[in-house]
Amino acid sequence: MRRVEVLVIGGGPAGATAALLLARGGRQVALLEQSRFPRRKVCGEFIAPPAAALLRSLGARLEPEIGRVELWAGERVLRARLPAPCASAMAREDLDAFLLRRAAEAGTAVYQPEKALSIDRFKDQYICETSSTPIQAAVVIAAHGTPQRRAAPRPSDLLAFKAHFRGATVPGDLIALLPFAGGYGGALHLGDGRATFACCIRRDALEALRRAGEPAGEVQPVVGLGISLAMRSAALLSRTLDTPAVYARECRKLYARALLPSALIAHLMPHARAPWMLTLGARLAAPSPAWPAACAARRAAPRRP
Ligand SMILES: Cc1cc2nc3c(=O)[nH]c(=O)nc-3n(C[C@H](O)[C@H](O)[C@H](O)COP(=O)(O)OP(=O)(O)OC[C@H]3O[C@@H](n4cnc5c(N)ncnc54)[C@H](O)[C@@H]3O)c2cc1C
Repeated sequence: MRRVEVLVIGGGPAGATAALLLARGGRQVALLEQSRFPRRKVCGEFIAPPAAALLRSLGARLEPEIGRVELWAGERVLRARLPAPCASAMAREDLDAFLLRRAAEAGTAVYQPEKALSIDRFKDQYICETSSTPIQAAVVIAAHGTPQRRAAPRPSDLLAFKAHFRGATVPGDLIALLPFAGGYGGALHLGDGRATFACCIRRDALEALRRAGEPAGEVQPVVGLGISLAMRSAALLSRTLDTPAVYARECRKLYARALLPSALIAHLMPHARAPWMLTLGARLAAPSPAWPAACAARRAAPRRP
């Protein structure tokens, strides 16, 4: 049996950031990640300003700087500047491997590939059965992402796709958003010669397209904020580990502040006529916290016994 203070399940942006900041704060942390890195992951690979700021403070070379957004809706193109500081882009195989490496350098014991199979509670401890030796921990952080399987498929299920292209003409400082009936997509440059195109489409819309291009409903996507929210909630957790109620309250606020405006913007996207709506949506959804200061504070915190 391995014993740690904090066990993190999942080595994506949320798990790796939580492990990194907790280890820097003096906690004894172990992390389980079931896949071998680097691994590809379906994602638009847009890094919103709060996450970009943390990544830069950790030494990531983030290029390009994305300062413009365009909405390509049929024949219509809306153009707007994104509020400073700049967003960026990074392939998920690079981003996730970078964060996990930083977590390991901060002192996290990373077990990979190793899967968490079950968790049982005994008094004030948890026992996690894994694909290897069990781990005992006082705190377990579930950062294993969205479950992939659901009992029964539903028409409103979102199916996601991603592809990398070379020779794309999307300018490096631009993110292009492409709403369409039943879904949305996004395209950007990664800065290494590749461009990412990712999209989500409702199950019923995809089936309708396969049948004969029938009209389908619309989704309310959250545009390019998932990584940033994952990392920000992880930072919040690293500050509030001993006060779960505070974490739950503040986390609800964090997500509500980000998700409501972006869902609204996403809903209005296909009908948007004014560029300022794009800028406003980005500003409301992703205010930039003082990441480097937060990280420095954790480093300076006294080590726990
Ligand atoms: C089509 C699409 C486009 C997107 N585009 C963007 C974008 O442009 N920008 C953005 O910010 N966000 C985007 N997102 C959202 C973003 O991908 C997620 O918000 C982000 O990955 C969440 O990070 P996470 O760490 O919570 O989970 P994940 O990234 O899913 O990481 C979870 C990790 O846990 C591991 N795991 C799972 N179960 C176990 C287990 N039992 N044991 C051990 N390990 C386990 C998994 O292997 C995985 O590595 C997009 C999502 C989709 C679907």
